[in-house]
Amino acid sequence: MSPPPVYLNGDWCDTASAQVSVFDRGYLFGDGVYEVIPAFGGRLFGLEAHMERLSRSLREIGIAEPLARDEWQAIFDRLLEGYVGRDAAVYLQVTRGAPVPRDHAWPDPATAPGVMATVSPIGRRSEGARAITMPDQRWARCDIKTINLLPNTMARQKAVEQGVDEAILVRDGLVIEGSATNLFAVIGGRLVTAPTGPQMLAGVTRRLLIEMTRRKGLIEVDESFITVSALRGADEVFLTSSTKDIWPVLEIDGEPVGQGEGAGRPGPVTCRLDEHFQQLKTPQRRPA
Ligand code: PLP
Repeated sequence: MSPPPVYLNGDWCDTASAQVSVFDRGYLFGDGVYEVIPAFGGRLFGLEAHMERLSRSLREIGIAEPLARDEWQAIFDRLLEGYVGRDAAVYLQVTRGAPVPRDHAWPDPATAPGVMATVSPIGRRSEGARAITMPDQRWARCDIKTINLLPNTMARQKAVEQGVDEAILVRDGLVIEGSATNLFAVIGGRLVTAPTGPQMLAGVTRRLLIEMTRRKGLIEVDESFITVSALRGADEVFLTSSTKDIWPVLEIDGEPVGQGEGAGRPGPVTCRLDEHFQQLKTPQRRPA
């Protein structure tokens, strides 16, 4: 397969020739934000929510909107030309530009931002995930989707080194989210997930799943914190993200999730929610 096209600061280039300045503040300080927007069967999914979150992230770190909505759309359309009928993830990032010399303080607001977008295929997710818990070592504004992801990458690397798929981040005994996923658990017949706030990223998949579950009355949703001991006793656990959808967790810290015969297997609530979510991803044909 040919390497993906890259949109970079108003130009189109191929992967090999896409280069940014060494003064780009994303490169120097991690001073920027990003989005990952999935396209299923070549159609963007949750676009409004992703663009809303991008605007919020930009606002929170004081970068002006670099492009109008139709300009973004033209970029997405071109990126997805090679993905007709296929699943892909559009990646975009905006940094505070490349002022010289390097200085912690922000440059003149008129400094051109750094804007990049590219696309990659979404592979099939595995049937279930194995996870470990670990302390959340991130900063106090995890609600901003910043490109500054060092603690997240360190957590994921630790998981990989232990031969598992995801790190579940824990702060003060409470389960916050995964290194690149939100977490849900079925406990006492309710679907529980941490409330949004500065401690975690408000995932678009999380939001769409909660809205769908409430709209269809599938199970009661409780947005409150889960203790680590409650997580260990949960009937079912799953992770969500734009590229993984609903990803059942089969094992946490080496112990199977759930009890009895179904332990260590995707649970019935998870499977039901996933079925409904797959329908949400596939636009219904209008009757002729
Ligand atoms: N939490 C973190 C820390 C993430 O990085 C991500 C996605 O990258 C998510 C949650 C899931 O968010 P979304 O469903 O919008 O992909």
